[in-house]
Amino acid sequence: MATYLFRCPDCSVFEVVQPMAALRPTSPCPACGADAARVYTAPALATVPTGTHRAIDAADASAETPQVVRSIPNGAPRPRSRRWSPVTGPAPVNAARRPAGPHPSLPRW
Ligand SMILES: [Zn+2]
Repeated sequence: MATYLFRCPDCSVFEVVQPMAALRPTSPCPACGADAARVYTAPALATVPTGTHRAIDAADASAETPQVVRSIPNGAPRPRSRRWSPVTGPAPVNAARRPAGPHPSLPRW
């Protein structure tokens, strides 16, 4: 399917989405039914992957109307470490679970 532009002599420009095999030099205007001539434009060729287009569109939409998030969305990965969390901050030091004696990395003599 491709999108083609047509210009009605009485109304305005309109788009028609149809297969290339069904393309005719004129198309009936959806408003008045008159024969509208095709408008030739530069082809809109995709030069980047579809996912990149979606990311660019999402970034543009976010710049205009950013979505405000007040909590971690369901299904979002939780922090794996308990050392620090953006929700709870630093984990408290639990002296009872700390092994007695000097740290094992310290030299012994
Ligand atoms: Zn028309």
